[in-house]
Amino acid sequence: EVKRSKSVQEDRLKLPILGEEQVIMETINENPVTIICGETGSGKTTQVPQFLYEAGYAHGNGLIGITEPRRVAAIAMSHRVAMEMNLSTSEVSYQIRYEGNVTEDTKIRFMTDGVLLKEVQKDFLLTRYSAIVIDEAHERSVYTDILIGLLSRIVPLREKRGNPLKLIIMSATLRVEDFTENKKLFKITPPVVKVDSRQFPVTIHFNKRTPLDDYLNEAYRKVCKIHRMLPEGGILVFVTGQQEVHTLIRKLKQTFPVNPKNVTSDSKQKKKSRKKKTEQEKLEAPKIDLNNYSVEPVDEEAEREAGIDSDGEDLIDTTDVTDFDDGEDDISMDETAAGGCTDPLYILPLYSLLSTEKQERVFSPPPEGCRLCVVATNVAETSLTIPNIRYVVDTGKVKTKFYDKVTGVSTFKITWTSKASANQRAGRAGRVGPGHCYRLYSSAVFNDDFEKFSPAEITRRPDMNIDKVINFPYPTPPDIEQIKAAENLLISLGALTKPEAPKRFKDTKKEQSTKITPLGRAMSCFPVAPRYAKMLSLGHQHDLLPYVVAIVAALSPDSLKQRLQHMIQVKKVWAGTGHSLLLGDLMVMLKAVGSCEYEGFSPEFCEKHGIRYKAMKEVRKLRAQLTNSVNTVIPEANLCVDPKLEPPSDLQAKLLRQIILAGLGDHVARKCPDPLPTDDAAKRKKLKNAYECIELEEPVYIHPCSVLYRQNPEYVVYQYIHETSKVYMKGIVAIEPE
Ligand code: ADP
Ligand code: MG
Repeated sequence: EVKRSKSVQEDRLKLPILGEEQVIMETINENPVTIICGETGSGKTTQVPQFLYEAGYAHGNGLIGITEPRRVAAIAMSHRVAMEMNLSTSEVSYQIRYEGNVTEDTKIRFMTDGVLLKEVQKDFLLTRYSAIVIDEAHERSVYTDILIGLLSRIVPLREKRGNPLKLIIMSATLRVEDFTENKKLFKITPPVVKVDSRQFPVTIHFNKRTPLDDYLNEAYRKVCKIHRMLPEGGILVFVTGQQEVHTLIRKLKQTFPVNPKNVTSDSKQKKKSRKKKTEQEKLEAPKIDLNNYSVEPVDEEAEREAGIDSDGEDLIDTTDVTDFDDGEDDISMDETAAGGCTDPLYILPLYSLLSTEKQERVFSPPPEGCRLCVVATNVAETSLTIPNIRYVVDTGKVKTKFYDKVTGVSTFKITWTSKASANQRAGRAGRVGPGHCYRLYSSAVFNDDFEKFSPAEITRRPDMNIDKVINFPYPTPPDIEQIKAAENLLISLGALTKPEAPKRFKDTKKEQSTKITPLGRAMSCFPVAPRYAKMLSLGHQHDLLPYVVAIVAALSPDSLKQRLQHMIQVKKVWAGTGHSLLLGDLMVMLKAVGSCEYEGFSPEFCEKHGIRYKAMKEVRKLRAQLTNSVNTVIPEANLCVDPKLEPPSDLQAKLLRQIILAGLGDHVARKCPDPLPTDDAAKRKKLKNAYECIELEEPVYIHPCSVLYRQNPEYVVYQYIHETSKVYMKGIVAIEPE
């Protein structure tokens, strides 16, 4: 029996999902799998676990599990549900990767999806759970997709054992066909319960023009304008990462000090008050410590938010608040007449790595007479519903992880979000009454440049370590041919064993299975494509990781376009000096990367030596990102982006060449025999400087801008083949035959 407080009970009754409790519970009781769709804020995350609890799913040894793609949600929601149910956090608990408050008594367990995935590895049938709720399925995070695939197999197995497990998939959008119409996933189409919720109209205001990379400034100006001119109501701003959150907040706090007395139109007084601010702030408002980043170990979610933020400080250069760009009149004088707000602005940050108690401040009402302004990352899009928001300022930007197609090295880039997610953001303004959404981009950009939906992450990720990938029931399955090719590559790299031939005739139907080797296991630690993972594994073995990391970063063709132009210049400087390291593009590159850092990474140094500064910056970014990732998987490697990396010794250089060869073993090319004087002109032309490789019948060539072009080594390895006017090998290293 749950004893809720009166105020909680009142709040709950306002949630649209409460009217659907009976329908939801009947559907869950009668079906193994249920899908629940409901607008953000309708009460799915906080209420469905309580419905399950009250329906007896936590009786006896039963455990109710809820997975969240974001740890913010896992923590905040467990606290909220414990509070609503008047239970202790030892009964309603959370578990994220490195921390949690789960106990023997836990009945409801919130966790990140990665945590549940780990549990499946230990206990495939998840026998402790009586019900599992997969929340935020619309986000289509990789782990969520994999979990749903696994659970689609676990649920029938549990049913067979007479110990059924209920699966509930919850989504903030109605776009659930990937779960309902995929017969490979669920043979019987699961029922969908829709929760209708009241959504007030939100007026969308597009910018007439789209500021170029200046969105943070633009956001700043827009918040100032809204606060100065529009009636009361909370403001929610969407930016891409925690550094941006802090930069914007710092600027806003300077402009709108917290003490109400300080808010006056007199700028002189404003300046004075700014000085006083620090002391007053200590007393009155919780100060946001800009350096107080979480100390949790970096993982993917953390990376995403902390990752590469724009250069921070100098993003906001506005010197004066009155310096508005008045070309746009979306906030009109009429509205001003309705009463601009003279209240102080109460500004709060919200992002994944913010401490829980700071996160939870967004749920409490702002101090008396203040307007709330929350500067948030994507977490405020659907994971957390901030009450009383009336204005949304949307930069339209999101930080997305990109994978280099060849090496698999990943990096974060800031891109436009999708139409679906922009509409979710806008919807945040219409929870309590009619609202406004200010989009800091033009309607043309929205229509032409925004994807309809954000693609499921799994479709963008090159590497998933799942046994028998081909048969895995993904909600959105990857291409089978690609998987087969990938499997063959893993076998040839020695990461998987060769499929065993069936021992007896009757076994032939049984699938031939491959097993992961120790090398494969080591490789799977590295977040890059298999060839490069092998190089990193071997690099680790031989204590050459810093070099291999630099090489793999430099090998990522993301930087290739620039690299190519750069090579033309750099070879003039480094090539032909007779140094034993200058064997190929890659070694030249390593040398360039090393010396560039060594000399303080200045544009001047680069220019002086014919190195392209931009290309170096790109490589540096990839190198830093890869160094970070490697450190999280093998902390004992204790890697850093060493600015004083010594050039490799001759022995090390030799090892490095072998390591590269080991990763690109099937990409060896051998010089064709020179044409004979008797050959005809066409043949002579064809054979001149030609190489033969395993991949193609036709000869392949070294590009004239490569340092190896003139050198013409006997054997080379290449990264991939690129066909233009001729068939060229790209990313070449010379190797010496043993
Ligand atoms: P959904 O999962 O459907 O998006 P939630 O269950 O997260 O909805 O939220 C339901 C309501 O509970 C929202 O109005 C939200 O603001 C409120 N809420 C959630 N957490 C808290 C909290 N810690 N304090 C106060 N209100 C909260
Ligand atoms: Mg939710």
